[in-house]
Amino acid sequence: MDDLFQYLLITDQLDDFLGFKEKVKCPNCGDELVEIVYGRPTKETVEQAKQKKLYLGSCMNGIAKYHCYGCGKNYNEDGKEAR
Ligand SMILES: [Zn+2]
Repeated sequence: MDDLFQYLLITDQLDDFLGFKEKVKCPNCGDELVEIVYGRPTKETVEQAKQKKLYLGSCMNGIAKYHCYGCGKNYNEDGKEAR
């Protein structure tokens, strides 16, 4: 891991740097949606999930793209609610 990456991670600017900061709002409650990360969780993704920066969807079948921590709903990429 290089110093810049480490710095961005520590200062919480990594998302800005990578351009992930386009906020998607929940159509139901207006909370920010976070991306669902599928597959086996890593130390990093577990940590980010704790900070509600992403949602671990390892036990789901991978249809939904976003999760809302506000109301617990999942959404597809097109913004439609996933069931
Ligand atoms: Zn919501």
